[in-house]
Amino acid sequence: MNHPSTPSDGKDSSAAASNLYDTLSQFMFTSFASLRSLALHTEDQPRQHQQQPGVLALLETLYRTALLYLDETLDHIALVLLIYSLLCIVLYRLLFRAGSGNALSGRWWLLRRSRIPSCQRALLVTAHPDDEVMFFGPTILELRRRQCRVFVLCLSEGNHEGQGDVRRQELWDACESMGVRPEDITLVDATHLQDDPAAEWKTVTIANQILRQIESLDVQLLITFDKDGVSGHPNHCAIYYATASLCLSGLIPNTCKVLTLETVNLCRKYLSLFDLPVTLLLSTNW
Ligand SMILES: [Zn+2]
Repeated sequence: MNHPSTPSDGKDSSAAASNLYDTLSQFMFTSFASLRSLALHTEDQPRQHQQQPGVLALLETLYRTALLYLDETLDHIALVLLIYSLLCIVLYRLLFRAGSGNALSGRWWLLRRSRIPSCQRALLVTAHPDDEVMFFGPTILELRRRQCRVFVLCLSEGNHEGQGDVRRQELWDACESMGVRPEDITLVDATHLQDDPAAEWKTVTIANQILRQIESLDVQLLITFDKDGVSGHPNHCAIYYATASLCLSGLIPNTCKVLTLETVNLCRKYLSLFDLPVTLLLSTNW
C-alpha cells in the first residue's frame, strides 16, 4: 500500500535530518576535541619526564664542576702557602740566624737597607715598664750590638694594678739583660703621669721630660712609639704626640734623629717570622 506523502511530512523529515546532522557534527567535534586534548596530554607527559632529568643533569654537572674548581683552588692555595712558608724560613735563616757566612752577609744587607742611623748614644722613651722589652727589645739589642749606648726614659711606674714596685724591678732586670746600664735608666713617678688608660697625659708635660733628657744626655737618636702606640694604649700615643710637637716646633736638635716604631695590624703582629716578607716590602723604614 502506498501512503501518499503530505507537505507536512516532508518538512518533518527534513527537520529530523537537520537535527541528526547537527548532533553528528557536535559529536564529531567533541570527539575530535577530546582526542586532540588526549593527544596533547599524552605528548606533554613524556616531555615533562624528559625535562626533569635534564635539569637534574645540568645541576649535577654544575655541582661537579664547582667541586672540581674548588678542589683545584684549594690545591693552589696550599701550594702558595707552602712556597710562602719556605720563603719566610729561607729569609729568616739568611737574615737573622747567626753562625754562618750567609747569615752575616744577610744581616749586613739588612743593616745596609735599614734607616737606623749609626750613633753613639740613643734615647728610648716608653710609657710603662715592660714596653722596652716587649716592643723595643730587638731595637735595643741591635743598637747595643753596634756599641751604641742606650738610655731608657720610662714615664710611669706601671702601677695601674698596684704592681709598681714589681714592675720597677722588672724594668731594671730587663734592661740589664739587654746590655743597658742601670744608671742609664730613668723612671718618672709623677702624679700627672700615672699608668692609666683613662688618664690624659699632657703633651707639654711629656715634651718637657723628653727634651730635658735629649739635651742633658746629648743623644743622636730618639726612639719611641708611633701615633697608634703599637697596642693602642693612650699613654703610648701621648708620647708620640709630645714627640711630634717637639719636632714641629723645631726644639729637637738637628743632630738628633727621631724614629717611631711602626704599628701593624693584629694579624701581622703575631705572625712571627711569617710576616718577614711583608715587613721587608711594606715597612717605611726600608
Ligand atoms: Zn705600655
